[in-house]
Amino acid sequence: MFERRLKVVLTIPILGGLILIARLYRLQIVDGAQYEKRAEQSLIAPKRFLPPLRGSVLDRHGKVLVSDEPTFDLSAHYGALSEDENFLRDYAREIRRQSRHYQRMSRSDAEGEALRRVQTLYDRLAELTEASADEYFARRDSIVESVEFLRDYIWQARGGEGIEQRKEDMRLREEDRFHTLIRDLDRTFQSRIEIELGDLSFFRIMPAVRRVWQTEDRSLAHLLGRIGQVSKKRLEEDPRKTDWLARYRAGDLVGVSGVEYLAEDVLRGTRGYEEKNLDGDVIESVASIDGAPVRLTIDSELQQRVAEILKAAISVELGRTGGSCVILDVSTREVLAMVSVPGFDQDTFRKHYDQLRDEARTRPLLFRAIAEEYQPGSIVKPVALLAGLKHGVVTANTTYDCDGSYIDHSKHWHCWTHWKHLPGHGAMAATGAIQHSCNLYFYDLGKHVNARRLSAFYDDFIRGPGHDTSTVVRSTGLLEERDGIIPTFEWIEKYRDRAYTWADGCNYAIGQGEMQITPLQAANMYATLANGFYRDPTIVMGDQRERRPKPIAGISPAQWQLARRGLYLCVNEPGGTAYEKATLDNLVICGKTGSAQCVARPVKTKYVFNVEQEVSDESALASDLKRTETVRLETVAPTLERARELLDLPHDAKPDEWRVVERWPPVPEKRTTPLPHAWFAGYAPYKKPRVAVALIIEHGGSGGQVAAPVGRQVFSAIMESAHDYLGLGSRSQQVAKGNDAADD
Ligand SMILES: [Zn+2]
Repeated sequence: MFERRLKVVLTIPILGGLILIARLYRLQIVDGAQYEKRAEQSLIAPKRFLPPLRGSVLDRHGKVLVSDEPTFDLSAHYGALSEDENFLRDYAREIRRQSRHYQRMSRSDAEGEALRRVQTLYDRLAELTEASADEYFARRDSIVESVEFLRDYIWQARGGEGIEQRKEDMRLREEDRFHTLIRDLDRTFQSRIEIELGDLSFFRIMPAVRRVWQTEDRSLAHLLGRIGQVSKKRLEEDPRKTDWLARYRAGDLVGVSGVEYLAEDVLRGTRGYEEKNLDGDVIESVASIDGAPVRLTIDSELQQRVAEILKAAISVELGRTGGSCVILDVSTREVLAMVSVPGFDQDTFRKHYDQLRDEARTRPLLFRAIAEEYQPGSIVKPVALLAGLKHGVVTANTTYDCDGSYIDHSKHWHCWTHWKHLPGHGAMAATGAIQHSCNLYFYDLGKHVNARRLSAFYDDFIRGPGHDTSTVVRSTGLLEERDGIIPTFEWIEKYRDRAYTWADGCNYAIGQGEMQITPLQAANMYATLANGFYRDPTIVMGDQRERRPKPIAGISPAQWQLARRGLYLCVNEPGGTAYEKATLDNLVICGKTGSAQCVARPVKTKYVFNVEQEVSDESALASDLKRTETVRLETVAPTLERARELLDLPHDAKPDEWRVVERWPPVPEKRTTPLPHAWFAGYAPYKKPRVAVALIIEHGGSGGQVAAPVGRQVFSAIMESAHDYLGLGSRSQQVAKGNDAADD
């Protein structure tokens, strides 16, 4: 059967391959390296692909952040990777032919030798490159899996069972090609491999390109994202699947996260090819088409400056686990900075991956700006006020007399002053309630607006009025982006299995309860407060998506002005929670502080797995009698992945029990929970808002004491930028505070 298959189906490609391998082998043995180049050019793989350069990623001012550069890859023949029996037989024949002990080497010895050389390749490479052989085995498996997928796809496309050829007999071009096993080979390793393994004809070192990070700013790591080997799913879903040159091929690198993923269609190019005759003359060629560059809306200098500010703020206390800051252009909603700290070094990401993943205290891999949801706390109060005004629950002059606490439905409600042993706020009206962040005013407002109307209104600010719930692409479109939690009536029913209560309204009005938003959503909420329009933010210059500004309905200009006046007073008048903390002499900032309740996160967990294992039954007479038995395996680890590794369990093993043994950060004395996250959100300048900012310091404590001063530093950094984001004109013409602050 095998012989017939060889003759009938594989004659041409295999014979071709055989001759080529034979020639190359002889050339290498006889004349060494000087023939290598010529052999490569004229004999192997007549059609040779020309890789395109992947597009660069630039910041808004054209600074290159990531680009492709030439390098070398190590590739192996598919027959060797798949240990294909035809390939091994041909290779064995060559070994016999070239062996000095040809006369004495039997066919079966040669076949054994061929298999040994192919199978030991990974360990030998691992040794020479100081890497783990497992990595190379995983890469081999992934290539073989991709090619098998392709075989399946083509076979199905040709009519599946309807065609006469068996699927296993179908020969693919991929099977006669070299596939990349090691990318971007280090120069030292390259020469070592050439010396040690140069006599193996089934792999080659080939020119290639590599992705190079042109920025050392770790805070950009999450945003720019990474490239990785194309998955089976991506091959399947490739929109250019029918174009043989443009489509993904097994082993291709594609964007897997951040901008690299988001802009994949722009960044990826189209490969070309070249065919040469035996003399090395090009007889046919198609040039590759490089991918196009992508320009981000990010100002990388500003981003780096803000990252430094945040890092400094976080390093003050050990319990501060991380932070994030997002800066938006109010009108265009272009993201000027999107900082998430801690970050990580892209260049050593792979090497340090386990360590980064298991760093459970600070979670450096987490893209906090868009992928972490926090309770908004008091920064949501201006939006709650607008809901109260819209629904006629309060007017500008409606007052609430805050005496620090009250009892409603036998529940105790406290203003924040109560916990600081201060007297209540007294008579509070709309703007004063924002300025002083009076909880009791907002409890009362929330109760009367009610949870349903409040959530619906918040949704307009967080996801946009009349947003299509079926649309997946909202906001920036980044893969990592989370949608926040707005506890709508349906959400509460679905996830809490209950109906709204009157208390939900009170809690939602001060940003507590189930509601959670990302720092990006917080910044966008403040941009909407600044100009009255919701708009999807973007990180790409010239974003072609439909994202026109949508007005927030039902709010009069006078009502908008009340919320904005409250935010002005909060930063610029005595008694404001950000007064003197976020105040600048030469820029009028409007903003609000907030503290988000939170719990300590598990950083060490005890995992228990009950695993079926085969054991020899020593009591039985027959020594080969085996039986299975449930074995209890347990370990303490920072992550489930780590626990599986420690116990040598498969990557999908599920623990039967787990118990948190350590949390972080520690709970301070006289508290039952760790310090809350500290928020500051705002915009500037007051009269003509141009820039909105939201920032959070995890477990920072008081928004006023901790986040507001960081907010001031961030606005200073924006002012100091060479670019006039605040519309202040040149330095000498900067609007004096007095002019801008003049009351309406
Ligand atoms: Zn109060």
